[in-house]
Amino acid sequence: MYHKVAVPGAAAKVRSHYVHPAAFDRQLQLLRSLGYRSISPGETRAASAREIAITFDDGYENFFTQAMPSLSKAGLGATVFVVTSRLGRTDEWDGGIEPLMTREQVLESAKQGIEIGSHTSRHADLTAVDPSIAREEIFESRQFLISAGMSNPGFCYPYGRHNPAIRALVKAAGYPYACGTQRGQNDLSTDNFDLHRINIRADTSLPIFLFKLLRARRTRG
Ligand SMILES: [Zn+2]
Repeated sequence: MYHKVAVPGAAAKVRSHYVHPAAFDRQLQLLRSLGYRSISPGETRAASAREIAITFDDGYENFFTQAMPSLSKAGLGATVFVVTSRLGRTDEWDGGIEPLMTREQVLESAKQGIEIGSHTSRHADLTAVDPSIAREEIFESRQFLISAGMSNPGFCYPYGRHNPAIRALVKAAGYPYACGTQRGQNDLSTDNFDLHRINIRADTSLPIFLFKLLRARRTRG
């Protein structure tokens, strides 16, 4: 799980969310040299040892400008969960400092093989809003992505927050899977609507990255 691939500016919040572009590039080259293949998060429960899903939350513009070139150089794909009614705007839920991808950038990413999923319409904490609003956030964002030509988009909970009622809504909307923020790898015992992820942070050195990778693999065989 990544958020931003960028050098944080002076006003940046949550600095741990900024992975340096050169560090990201080294991580992908390591995956490539180890023979990894990228898959969708929805396939991770049955993944083999050298399959990995690379995910990005929020849909920042720096995905398009910084992460995409490294991904295509390494021959790897990724999944980006976008906030559908905020495209071309900023991360208003987090201070409004970072620009988000425009609709055109999202479409271009999809054209280049990037999987686009939903991170709701407005980055709502689904467990804190009225159930009718939660429903709207989940259903509308899917409709938006389908209309934009994405087939069968996945889902990712803002702030990693969900409960049984929210998971049921995500399922009812027709999403094939949903990512949470629980740490770790997935296997067939993992809830497909609370998929685990491994957090890659600003301070994740290459040896730590490799350690996280091997630890995930060990339990999968
Ligand atoms: Zn988010």
